[in-house]
Amino acid sequence: MFSDMLHFIYEGLVALEKRKFSVAFALLRKPFKEGMLLAAQVCADEVSFFDTMKLDAKSLLSRKALDETRIKTLLELTLKACHATSFLSSDVIYNTVFNRKNDAGLAQLFDKATHFVTEFSQIRTENYNINFIFKNPEDNDVYETIYPELARLLLFLNMMQIELYTRMRAPKKNYRNWILFTSIGSYEALYAKGRRSKMTAFVNSHFGDFLICPHCAANIRVKKADAPRLFIGETLDCNNCRMAHHFPFGWLLSKIDMAMFDN
Ligand SMILES: [Zn+2]
Repeated sequence: MFSDMLHFIYEGLVALEKRKFSVAFALLRKPFKEGMLLAAQVCADEVSFFDTMKLDAKSLLSRKALDETRIKTLLELTLKACHATSFLSSDVIYNTVFNRKNDAGLAQLFDKATHFVTEFSQIRTENYNINFIFKNPEDNDVYETIYPELARLLLFLNMMQIELYTRMRAPKKNYRNWILFTSIGSYEALYAKGRRSKMTAFVNSHFGDFLICPHCAANIRVKKADAPRLFIGETLDCNNCRMAHHFPFGWLLSKIDMAMFDN
């Protein structure tokens, strides 16, 4: 299920890069509107999910079983089941993916991309128009508004995946911390408001002794803007001599007994 979602998401993001907007949102619709709900059902109550899959699989995503209230309850249970999800809420996820009245979310784009004409009042196709037909491919509005939403949903899916893999075979606590730290830290650095970051403050205070440039010996202080490259690419620039260095972030993090994600 996750690999199917991954292929759709990957191709959707590639289509976004190529400015093929309606192709992108048609592709992204399936993993977020449907796959995410299946994954959430497994997270929230795997016994009930497998019972339904065995006896009545066709109703796993039935509209009756998944109205607004039930989707929100399902999302809440899922968030509770996963670690480190305090920055997410069922309302925000619902409004982003499913609420067609929300002009800033993805639901309207999913519907418009999948159908040439739409009747729902908020996204009703105007006369002399067909959905997306006159969208200027040079417009950047989609990238400014949609990427933070997509990043939040991807992070939610990542948390579910970590939770489900953990149930199959519990990882070492430090390894789990590394996965959580790098994904949440990168998201925070890229999309959270403000210049401060809890994650970079943690790195500066715990790894200060190692944050000395091997080329010019200047002290390096990790800033929010440096964080994604450090967490994911394990690369750090020296502000003094401008050289880029490799930095074994995951190795060092595994030496620290961290309680940040215990709840
Ligand atoms: Zn340097």
